[in-house]
Amino acid sequence: MTSPDLTPDFSLDWLNKASDAQALAWFDGLYEHSPWVGQAALQHKPFRSLAHLKWALADSVSRASHEQQLMLVKAHPVLAAKRASGLTAASQTEQQLAGLWQSTPEQAAQLAQWNQRYQAHFGWPFIIAVRGPRGLGLTPDAILKELERRLDQSPAIEFHECLRQIHRIAETRLHEKCQSRPLLGGEAWDWHEWLAQFSDPGFAERGELSVSYLTPAHVSCAQTLRLGMQACGFDEVFIDAVGNVVGRYHPRQTGTQYLLTGSHYDTVRNGGKYDGRLGIFVPMACVRELARAGQRLNIGIEVVAFAEEEGQRYKATFLASSALTGEFQPDWLAQQDANGVTMKAALQQAGYRVADIARIRRDPSQYLGFVEIHVEQGPVLHHRHLPLGIVTSINGSVRYLIEISGTASHAGTSPMHQRHDAVAGFAAFAVYLEERARRDGDSVATIGMLHVPQGSINVVPGSCHFSLDMRAPTDAQRDALAHDILQRLRDICQERALPLKIEETVRASAAPSDPGLQQRWEHAVTRLGLPIHRMPSGAGHDAMKLHHLLPQAMLFVRGENQGISHNPLESTTADDMQLAIDTFQSLIELLN
Ligand SMILES: [Zn+2]
Repeated sequence: MTSPDLTPDFSLDWLNKASDAQALAWFDGLYEHSPWVGQAALQHKPFRSLAHLKWALADSVSRASHEQQLMLVKAHPVLAAKRASGLTAASQTEQQLAGLWQSTPEQAAQLAQWNQRYQAHFGWPFIIAVRGPRGLGLTPDAILKELERRLDQSPAIEFHECLRQIHRIAETRLHEKCQSRPLLGGEAWDWHEWLAQFSDPGFAERGELSVSYLTPAHVSCAQTLRLGMQACGFDEVFIDAVGNVVGRYHPRQTGTQYLLTGSHYDTVRNGGKYDGRLGIFVPMACVRELARAGQRLNIGIEVVAFAEEEGQRYKATFLASSALTGEFQPDWLAQQDANGVTMKAALQQAGYRVADIARIRRDPSQYLGFVEIHVEQGPVLHHRHLPLGIVTSINGSVRYLIEISGTASHAGTSPMHQRHDAVAGFAAFAVYLEERARRDGDSVATIGMLHVPQGSINVVPGSCHFSLDMRAPTDAQRDALAHDILQRLRDICQERALPLKIEETVRASAAPSDPGLQQRWEHAVTRLGLPIHRMPSGAGHDAMKLHHLLPQAMLFVRGENQGISHNPLESTTADDMQLAIDTFQSLIELLN
């Protein structure tokens, strides 16, 4: 069970023994006209894997001065719709591959115009890895769409994006040189596309992805995942009473424990294709390789594609993983969606047996733990040019709905010192909130909803409603944060004589990773030759629920586009998926 990246192929072995001059000659062309990148990477020799070499090259750019980085960016040719002179051989092949030279006259004119605008705005050429995240080449239309989008980014973000694209270009060029391909990663990529064909009405027509709990698209996803698991060679595949798709790959001998893994297949409205689903497809790919090789392990592997995590249709979130931990509340069945359809009716309509929900609960003695792979959904790994991150804890959170009352009065006739302005009180509080959360370093606090009921341009606000979401890696840190922030809110409202109502709506405990499982993830990542980066998870995940039943630990995979998620721009690359698969394969070897 080795993949191209794990095998020290001829080139890598040769590279480690080569003289500096030979190595530099071999690096030539990876980074446009910038031999210093390879030079600085040599300090990381011996390269333990291609992934390590890629990281070493990216690291030398990260360590360079801003001027040097800018020179690297400027060394790239302007993307042209026709063959330009002075292109390096690699650039020429890539531009050709993207079909840029077959652009229509309209596309060519648009490209030239936006290129010019881009260059004038940022002062460097637009850079994009034209082979794209799958490695097969972007169409001229896709390139134009990206160019248009990136024209509006801030210069700091766009500069970083260009560096990421440069590393991605180097990555695909490196594969050419080594004749290595992320084969399984490419397949996993295709599986995500395949599942993304199902989307709810109202979204599908616009090419947007939305899979809410128990819609026809959701049921189609479940059936498709079931077929996919069967094709992978799982021994048992079934859909349970809440719509979870379960695949079990039996151990060599009965009676031994299973490793439980998986993630969710529902999505937010107009969401991304990888959130949740990556954590289903990575272990599926690994099981398929085991089954193909006819290999049995001492442990069993159980993959669960969770039916619901996002809480889009009903108030209850994590209801699918709650069913596994025995925390599914029967009264949730009476919850109604926006159209008044109860969860019970929706389950029955989808063909699921409500009476069997209680039986979904797992017996913890049969499992050695739960692991989950997930896209990071944040910018941390992207900024560090690291494909994988080790999760130390899923942040604890607390949420409130808050109402500040004031006195609505005439905006023209109410003197400033005689007002009871609900929004002014809120504003004083919001400034403190940001300051206090920043102080911790890894806490976050957000006002996501803000409303001035019956607000009017000429009326002093009589009330202000807002939401408050606070998260931290431990419950103690979260509680201290919430205490300080709410105390300041009370003080401000008291000083300003503004009545205050605070309603706590959600309180979720932090879920620290199990040290043993976390260590094995770290070991697996180290085996790939990559440095370890430990980080808390700011987002909630199914692992947070499974934490109530089993030891758990998560692995994060870098997202493209600054790690954006819950957005159609959410993306990863076939290479990063391959690394996730390699890591999961290592993990099961270590647990076996
Ligand atoms: Zn998710």
